[in-house]
Amino acid sequence: MQKKNDPLEKMYRELAEKENGYRAKALKMFPHICGSCGREFSGKNLKELTVHHKDHNHDYNPPDGSNWELLCIYCHDHEHEKHKMKGYGGSEAAVKLGGFSAFEGLDALFSTGGKDEDKS
Ligand SMILES: [Zn+2]
Ligand SMILES: [Zn+2]
Repeated sequence: MQKKNDPLEKMYRELAEKENGYRAKALKMFPHICGSCGREFSGKNLKELTVHHKDHNHDYNPPDGSNWELLCIYCHDHEHEKHKMKGYGGSEAAVKLGGFSAFEGLDALFSTGGKDEDKS
């Protein structure tokens, strides 16, 4: 038996629709140029141009586009790497402890998927 209305699937679909919504708006509003490297996009290349949220909050989508920036997938990736670094290396102590703890944390986040392993 298959469940037809998988709430998770619904969530993903809504998320994708939302993303399509603001992407379309941003593409109409801004020139199709990467805000970081200045590459121009058109036609089938256009899918490599993505919408970046300046404050990294994907739920903050003001209609005037002030939180959006069009970035190519490469610059977008880079922008998020920078943000991650900033986040983990924010305090002096964290920097001195080295990047290992930060990466371990990330690893745990991705590999367990939130599952708690209880060692008893
Ligand atoms: Zn770029
Ligand atoms: Zn982004």
